[in-house]
Amino acid sequence: MTPAKIVAANWKMNLNKVEALSLASEVLETVRRENLYNVITILAAPYVHLYPCARLLEGIGNFPVSLAAQNCHHEAQGAYTGEVSASMLRSYGVEYVIIGHSERREYARETSPMLLAKLKMALKNGIKPIFCCGEPLAVREAEQQNVFVEQQVREVLTGLTPEEFAQIVLAYEPVWAIGTGKTANATQIAQMHQFLRSILLSIQPQHGLSTSILYGGSCKASNAAEIFSIANVDGGLVGGAALDAREFVNIIAAAQSLA
Ligand code: PEP
Repeated sequence: MTPAKIVAANWKMNLNKVEALSLASEVLETVRRENLYNVITILAAPYVHLYPCARLLEGIGNFPVSLAAQNCHHEAQGAYTGEVSASMLRSYGVEYVIIGHSERREYARETSPMLLAKLKMALKNGIKPIFCCGEPLAVREAEQQNVFVEQQVREVLTGLTPEEFAQIVLAYEPVWAIGTGKTANATQIAQMHQFLRSILLSIQPQHGLSTSILYGGSCKASNAAEIFSIANVDGGLVGGAALDAREFVNIIAAAQSLA
């Protein structure tokens, strides 16, 4: 099976209620008007916007736009003030969750064992994880990116059963390219995505070929087509450029034209 083409918006901690609903509606309407049905479009909204966005989607029926959370807790339930569980998310129609974004690894000190527990909890509740990996600038400058990323991936994904592994999406996001306007070049992306494909295949030979591998890091409408045409790039995880509906839909259109 070939990997699904996916374009996911990571809204991060942006947008108030009115702005979030207006952006979501505009994306939905444009995706529908322009028949962008061959790409799975995902909106990773802040927790509080998930329910109103789910209601927007409900009105639309069978439609290739899904909701994602940007995190979930690794325990099922209990005395974890301020946290949100995977089962709560699922009960609101959330289908994906971003796990291990570099901002959470850094600011929330998320470690590999914690990320594995989050992946398992999401999967147990029927939510597909978008698992992020990627090296910081100092690691890239020392040319240690393969060692670093392989460790991030193996420490977590070797803990999954084949059935669990079959549900995941992988995102490669070099930390130095996130929100900096500095995109990895085509050679850097091609080498890392090919390397990631080989790691996935070595962990799970029967599923490694069908896992979608997304690129993230200053992806925008003007560079999306070039990035998505690289072998083993199955779409994108988009931050800043996803906050503008037209810009984001143009990225989806670039993915669809290559699907
Ligand atoms: C991200 O945070 O996942 C991301 C890719 O951000 P940006 O597109 O803004 O670099």
